[in-house]
Amino acid sequence: MPVSAPQIVLERLHHLPGGKALLELAAGRDDVELVGGAVRDLLLGHTPRELDVVVADDAIGFAGELARRVGSLAGENPDERFESTFHERFRTALVWWGGGRIDIASRRAESYPAPGALPDVRPGSPEQDLLRRDFTVNAIAVSLTDAQMRSAPHAEEDMARGVLRVLHEQSFIDDPTRLLRMARYAARLGFEVEGSTATLAREAIVEGALGTVSGARIGTELRLALGEPGAVAALAAMSELGVLGALHPRLRFEEPVAGKALALLPEDGRADLALLASLVLPLVLRADGDPHAEIVALLDRWNFPAGDRDRVAAAAVAVPRLIEELGETERPSALRETALGVPLEGVSLAGALGAEEPARRWLEQTRHVHLEITGEDLLAAGIPEGPEIGYRLEAVLRRKLDDELASPGRDAELTAALDACV
Ligand code: ATP
Repeated sequence: MPVSAPQIVLERLHHLPGGKALLELAAGRDDVELVGGAVRDLLLGHTPRELDVVVADDAIGFAGELARRVGSLAGENPDERFESTFHERFRTALVWWGGGRIDIASRRAESYPAPGALPDVRPGSPEQDLLRRDFTVNAIAVSLTDAQMRSAPHAEEDMARGVLRVLHEQSFIDDPTRLLRMARYAARLGFEVEGSTATLAREAIVEGALGTVSGARIGTELRLALGEPGAVAALAAMSELGVLGALHPRLRFEEPVAGKALALLPEDGRADLALLASLVLPLVLRADGDPHAEIVALLDRWNFPAGDRDRVAAAAVAVPRLIEELGETERPSALRETALGVPLEGVSLAGALGAEEPARRWLEQTRHVHLEITGEDLLAAGIPEGPEIGYRLEAVLRRKLDDELASPGRDAELTAALDACV
């Protein structure tokens, strides 16, 4: 007898972290289903990032039992290894540990008190729980008890054809974050947006739907998109849809520039922040006010952590100066003077916009050149504590970079440091 699609889902689930415990726990009841991204990914042969589970009711009680069972299967004390969070309002719970994450929700129906607002949630039927979802391919459920599959209309054909389709006409108005989610799924799964869904998306954008959503929720979706391995494609899809322009009239995504910046970005750089800096760059290039303050305000509105916000703002703001000055730096010491202190993402972007050769030299070579001596050596040689130590070290580093020391090694560095005019 051929194996059915839901049986394949359960077979794959068995081998995923937490899957065995989930199946054992579900065997004693008839209401546990795998849903959403987990089913979608398993049907596509991908590994889900997390397991999405629905139960008829009491997700929180189920999460507690699940945590205990996963812990006992692992032979360890669950209290030490597991964390759970509960969200009463949304009737959901999350269990996570080093090896995985399981999201548990009680079946629910949702209604939107106002466009863009968070939904009101109430207990719902299995059908309502599918129909509240964003896209048909995320609205497939597989029972963990008997491997029966239920799905929203069109869901299985859309999965087979690789199509993203909303479940009803009001979908993007109710929750415009679905516009960003759609771009992310399209890029990640390589799926096409179905014709009438594309029309609804454009209409929602033109009607200003994105203006009804809180900056915090937009930020959450943007961070998810920026963190995708296919982030460039996700941003290109957002740009094409008109999402970026609706978020801020000056945001632009230039795919070739972003691609080039990522190619230049070293491993210790942050691809997500380089992409974000490329998005906000037009605020700098056509500045008529204080672009740094504007970028900070925008990223604050989207709830970016302060460290990331400041790094992106510093990177973007430095780009025009870097483009102008990097091209004129023949000597490595001058390159250092120009690029030192600018986030790597800013140098990569400037490289992508024209100053490629010097940017690459800085990122790959010059910034890694260090002295063998330290301030301790100068103190030991009798230089008094204070700023002079720093001046002398900097002077030697410049000479080392420009290949002006008598010979390689500590001795020549120390001699040069002691001879330096300060
Ligand atoms: P990923 O693979 O990135 O984790 P996912 O599809 O699992 O994506 P989640 O954000 O984990 O997405 O949400 C789980 C499921 O909840 C989705 O598959 C979808 O069915 C539903 N969902 C999530 N966000 C929304 C939303 N804004 N509107 C409607 N349904 C949603």
